[in-house]
Formats: sequence, structure tokens, C-alpha cells
Amino acid sequence: MDAKTNSYHIEVSGLSIEVIRKDIKNFYISVHPPNGRIRVSAPLRLDDDAVRMAIISRLGWIHRKQAEFIKQQRQSQREFVTGESHYFAGRRYRLDVTEQNCPPSVKLLNNTRIGLTVRPGTGRDKREAVFHTWYREHLRTQLPPLLAKWQPKMGVSVNEARIKKMKTLWGSCNIEAKRIWLNLELAKKPKSCLIYVLVHEMTHLLERHHNDRFHELMDTFLPQWRTYRDELNKAPLTHENWRY
Ligand SMILES: [Zn+2]
Repeated sequence: MDAKTNSYHIEVSGLSIEVIRKDIKNFYISVHPPNGRIRVSAPLRLDDDAVRMAIISRLGWIHRKQAEFIKQQRQSQREFVTGESHYFAGRRYRLDVTEQNCPPSVKLLNNTRIGLTVRPGTGRDKREAVFHTWYREHLRTQLPPLLAKWQPKMGVSVNEARIKKMKTLWGSCNIEAKRIWLNLELAKKPKSCLIYVLVHEMTHLLERHHNDRFHELMDTFLPQWRTYRDELNKAPLTHENWRY
């Protein structure tokens, strides 16, 4: 048990459930996106058996909620077919797929359309991989000029900035190695968001923690950072609950 929050996990009919003990009158149960995580707030007076019984009586509702989230997740998955919406650098584009016997590629056709060329019979996953390569290339060309600008401005030096697919982080910083990782998903976002995440991670080279000093530094380097952060966390998101 975590002494600070009084929370622990119990298992009920194959489900792992987080239980939080509080000085409250009623029993609350909630199911959270994206994976259907279940959390229960229980009054101190109920013992574990009573908590179990309360959960069991709501299993039907829990399963319905979980099924909804799984459906939502499936709907947000792209198939990489003509007509779909895809995001690039903060703009929404319509995808046009062409099947042709030549090396696969992605390019902007105009202000509203992205073209994906693949060999005939190319499946969904391979189409996605072609897209990801293109996103990665885009970020790779953005980074050197940004680093050249921000390193002297902030008085820090970055040994390495790399791009990676990450599930819950927009960016991360290994302070000792002075290495920064940026999420591939940033290619879909406006450039201001990429700058925000990069400056945030670079600020960690000056201050490890998200404390007052950290926010003062961010205010100095990038006074509009809160606007960019909000922009970053606006829909469409691939995952909920992003952290930095
Ligand atoms: Zn951070």
C-alpha cells in the first residue's frame, strides 16, 4: 500500500482494480480511457469483502465502459487509405494513395492533400511505416537549426537529440548524457509545439525538477510556452494523459 495516497490494487473476476480509501460516505467507481483502467474510492468503514461485493454488483457496467474505450481506440487507428485525414506540421490533410511499382514515398501535393505512393498490395502496417519514415525525416531536418538557435540562447549544450516513437511522453531528457528524445508524433503538430517540447527538455539541463525555478526559466526562454502546451494537448491525440 502507498502510505501517502492509501491506494492499493485488488483483483476481482480477472480485473485489476485500484482502490483508494478515503474518509467519504459513498462508494465511487470510475473507468478511465484509453485502456479502461478501473478505480474505486471506498469509505474507510467498508472492509475489502464489502468493496469486492460492490465491484461485482457493477461488473456489467464496467465491461460496457471498457468496451466503449476499446471501440474508441480502434476508431482512432488509421488505415492509410484514400480519403482519410492525416496531420502534418499542425495541418489536416486528405490522403491520396497511389499504387505504383516504384520506391514508396510520401509528399505534400498541395495545401490540403498528402500523397502516399506504395507498391501494389502494400498492407496497412507497411503504409504506416512509410509515413513514419517521412515524419522522422521531417523532424530530422527541423532539429539542427533549432538546436543551433536555442543552445547559445539558453547556455546549454545537447550531445544528442533523437526521434523515437513513444507512447506517453512528448519528450524526455537524460541529463547526465545530455541526450534528448522527441516523440515522432510531434511531426503532426505545429512547429511551435516542437519548439516547446525541445525547450522544455533543454531546460531540464538547467533544472531537473518541474519546480518554480523550472517555470521561471521557461517563462524567460519561451514566454508563450503555456499556449504551446495547450495546443499540444488539444485533440486529436493518439493517447490520453501525455506527460513530459
Ligand atoms: Zn519535464
